[in-house]
Amino acid sequence: MKITDHIEMLELKTDGGAIYPALLHDGSHLILADTGFPGQTEQLKAAIAEAGFAPERLTAIIITHQDIDHIGCAADLAKIAPGAEIMAHVEEAPYIDGSRTPVKLAALEERREELDEPMKDVLDNMRRGFANCRVKADRLLRDGDVLPWCGGIEIIHAPGHTPGHICLFVQGDGALIAGDALNINGRRLTGANPVHTLDAELARRSEARLRSYPCKHVLCYHGGALNLDLP
Ligand SMILES: [Zn+2]
Repeated sequence: MKITDHIEMLELKTDGGAIYPALLHDGSHLILADTGFPGQTEQLKAAIAEAGFAPERLTAIIITHQDIDHIGCAADLAKIAPGAEIMAHVEEAPYIDGSRTPVKLAALEERREELDEPMKDVLDNMRRGFANCRVKADRLLRDGDVLPWCGGIEIIHAPGHTPGHICLFVQGDGALIAGDALNINGRRLTGANPVHTLDAELARRSEARLRSYPCKHVLCYHGGALNLDLP
């Protein structure tokens, strides 16, 4: 679905509904923001093709944060598009490349003895999932960096949901790729889902900062797109 001249929102079906990676383009660059769950590579390739682009032409893959639904197909895509630079926030990259245990996996590991058998299975699946989709960032991003593509893509460090969560503000389009730092409920923009958020107070401060940006469009990974220009 076209959001602006530079942004397509992709839809990947999941058991519980859908998730929405973003594809940014400007004629010379093709950038994917977030990569779905493990096993969604074919679906993601098809969604990119349906938007009118060749997956192997990706020039960059930006990962907003370490959660399994965002990093799932990054390693596969890096093989399909060898020219794509993998990018993540400097604080998040060690969790994505496996040098640190992802925060939500670590929290479950800590409680392993208290978990019932189904939850232990969840934990084992999660551990396997993360082990299979590790990917090393080629470029580390920091708050305030501006990638000179698509009219300028500003990196906003928005911690809380995870320590190194980033959002992307596409300056020329007034569009915010919010990842999981914001959600949409009905037609209302809300903060990070508290159930999956590591530090709720930090997430609230990030939300307040994100709301100060001059946004016409907001894309939420779990909620889809909201056009703030509409009455
Ligand atoms: Zn997510």
